[in-house]
Amino acid sequence: MDYCDVVVDISHEKLDKTFQYKIPDKLSNILIEGMQVVIPFGRGNREITGYVVGLSEKPLYDKSKLKEVIRIVDNSTSIDGQLIKLAGWMKRNYGSTMNQALKTVLPIKEKSKPIEKKTVVLNLTKQELIDEYNTLISRSRHSISKERLFLALMEDDEIPWEVITKKLNISANTIRDFEKNSFVTIRIENTYRNPVTHFKQNEKKFELNEEQLLICNRFKSDYSAGDFGTYLLYGVTGSGKTVCYMEMIEYVLSCNKSAIVLIPEIALTYQTVMRFYNRFGDKVSILNSRMSKAERFDQFKRARNGDIKIIVGPRSALFTPFCDLGLIVIDEEHESTYKSDNVPKYHAVQTAIERARLAGASVVLGSATPSIDSYMKALRGEYRLLKLMSRVSDKALADCEIVDMRNELRSGNTSIISRRLHDLIEDRLSRHEQVMLFINRRGMLGCLSCRECGKTLKCPHCDVSLSLHRDNRMHCHYCGYTIDKPNVCPECGSKRIGGFNIGTEKVEELVSLEFPNANVLRMDMDTTKGKSGHEAILEKFANREADILVGTQMIVKGHDFSNVTLVGALAADMSLNIPDYRSGERTFQLLTQAVGRAGRGDKKGKAIIQTYEPDNYSIIASGNQDYEEFYNKEIVYRELMNYPPVSHMLLMLIQSEDEKQSDGQSGAIAELIKSRFDNVKLLGPQDAAIKKINDIYRKIIYIKDKDYDFLVEIKDVVEKYLLDNNDYSKTYVFFDFDPVNMI
Ligand code: ADP
Ligand code: ZN
Ligand code: ZN
Repeated sequence: MDYCDVVVDISHEKLDKTFQYKIPDKLSNILIEGMQVVIPFGRGNREITGYVVGLSEKPLYDKSKLKEVIRIVDNSTSIDGQLIKLAGWMKRNYGSTMNQALKTVLPIKEKSKPIEKKTVVLNLTKQELIDEYNTLISRSRHSISKERLFLALMEDDEIPWEVITKKLNISANTIRDFEKNSFVTIRIENTYRNPVTHFKQNEKKFELNEEQLLICNRFKSDYSAGDFGTYLLYGVTGSGKTVCYMEMIEYVLSCNKSAIVLIPEIALTYQTVMRFYNRFGDKVSILNSRMSKAERFDQFKRARNGDIKIIVGPRSALFTPFCDLGLIVIDEEHESTYKSDNVPKYHAVQTAIERARLAGASVVLGSATPSIDSYMKALRGEYRLLKLMSRVSDKALADCEIVDMRNELRSGNTSIISRRLHDLIEDRLSRHEQVMLFINRRGMLGCLSCRECGKTLKCPHCDVSLSLHRDNRMHCHYCGYTIDKPNVCPECGSKRIGGFNIGTEKVEELVSLEFPNANVLRMDMDTTKGKSGHEAILEKFANREADILVGTQMIVKGHDFSNVTLVGALAADMSLNIPDYRSGERTFQLLTQAVGRAGRGDKKGKAIIQTYEPDNYSIIASGNQDYEEFYNKEIVYRELMNYPPVSHMLLMLIQSEDEKQSDGQSGAIAELIKSRFDNVKLLGPQDAAIKKINDIYRKIIYIKDKDYDFLVEIKDVVEKYLLDNNDYSKTYVFFDFDPVNMI
């Protein structure tokens, strides 16, 4: 590469404005995107700094007029330098333009004035105040509002400006008068919005138990030796993971560093956030998707200034511009929301590890059901494994039973609630204990399953479920295999096959009919609209205003209800049928979390898993609440099928307005890849699950390989091919590495 594009002002709006420079020979193999450089600028060739955001072979302007880069600045300690390098890394590893990557990483500058907080502060002693007051009222005609202000100041020697002008109805002039006489001073503070203002400090700190102490000490001793790395904290629910995060954060803060804590948006509840506030006070701030851009920017600004030391938020909080980042915690690291839906389709775990590497920080990934990817890396020694295997105060995990729903049908019970679960619910209601019913709604996407034998229609080549398309045929999203939609079950001949679609609303209705004396509450997307919809429902349930809570996966995340002693998972196997190689992993995670909701209080919990596939290892292992049992089976399957994390996968989505062109071009891209790379494992091109959206035709190509960098190389070749061929100017190609959702 002989030329580079440099941006001299890294504010969001100016990113598109780049200047091209020539790369001198001495820098030609060193300069990469994200580096800070010194360049001659303007007429006078003033030396200024800028960031390299692109490299190219061809000059855009007259070659002789291009100036040369003077030198590279070592900016490894500057926060902007780090974030821009991170953007460069994201561009290379996930496929996007540098601009898209920069816009993801750099905070949007929204003009938001800092809030001026004015306080009126008394300057006089109590006695002087009384004297002045007496002087005032001794005059026959005196201002009533002055009198009132004196009286107010006797009660309180610091009063917010608004309280005086709005509540006490005293004019600004009166206050100014007091200021002129030096009775008071007006203190002005610029504060940035703090999203949470009411917190009580000094939550009691426990003595860590032996297991917790062991892992925290391991972390601290590594940290103090400057040995930063990535840890996987695998701890059963209620083992004290959060307590350990806080202990580690406290240590990192004592080393004058800052910390980022990522938690899934859905778990960003008052409960969790308050735990951090109570421990760390106003050193903490939060981010969430309900905040305005200006509010978010304020938090970033406070972080940059060092006003806060800890930020708690969802995926995007990863880019908080702490200059002294020391630790990134990712709670529930297995959650799929950590993968971005937008280009660049980055994964927060990998990106956090890279950010930490650039900053000289550590990463702690925590989960009760680690992703197969993370656990494999931990076993291989790539991550450091920390384990918490017992619940605090030896509270036992819930008893779990699996109920075979095929038997229910054979015995004439057509209800969605098995006889066993029915009896248990009756029992809990009579004892005034609460019940949670979890409906697994994931995977309703056009799968066919048999209610008699429990089998789902699967691809003979890929071991993933087939999905029903509009053409009334069943399709495999991995290899393109199709068959006609069968009318009877190919396994047992039963006619009772179909999509098992039952919504939460329906379940609520049926449950109310079966238990007419119970109060039933429902929580799903529909009932939680609005700012705090879901907290309101949870609060009601916590206050025991309902006996049964019916809901989707929303109800299984991190809420503690001490009076819940029974959890029922109604359609446990639904998520097994998602046409995705991760469906077993998802099912296991959801069920384990659901089961973990029972028995958080003093009474022992019970859980019922209802399923049509009682022999499936994901179901059996969740019944046993045995992660390792699940992992050992699942990793064999991934190895056999060459699925991630054993192998990597690159998905290319090729979109074009013209159907013929879409066919021809996706074919040409596949041919190009095959001709340039020997032994490439390529599937497709084939129609995406949704073949056409808004009249745009969609084709997909999959490539699997053990070597991630090999896939990056293929992406680079395709990208270059698209740039060099004008025919592709109206074709949009997206790259997705190790996709979370199959298209
Ligand atoms: P996790 O994040 O693994 O689910 P938490 O950190 O939320 O676990 O801890 C579960 C519960 O146990 C919390 O209510 C917490 O306050 C309490 N707890 C954790 N560690 C201790 C300890 N060492 N002593 C007493 N209580 C503890
Ligand atoms: Zn069948
Ligand atoms: Zn297939």
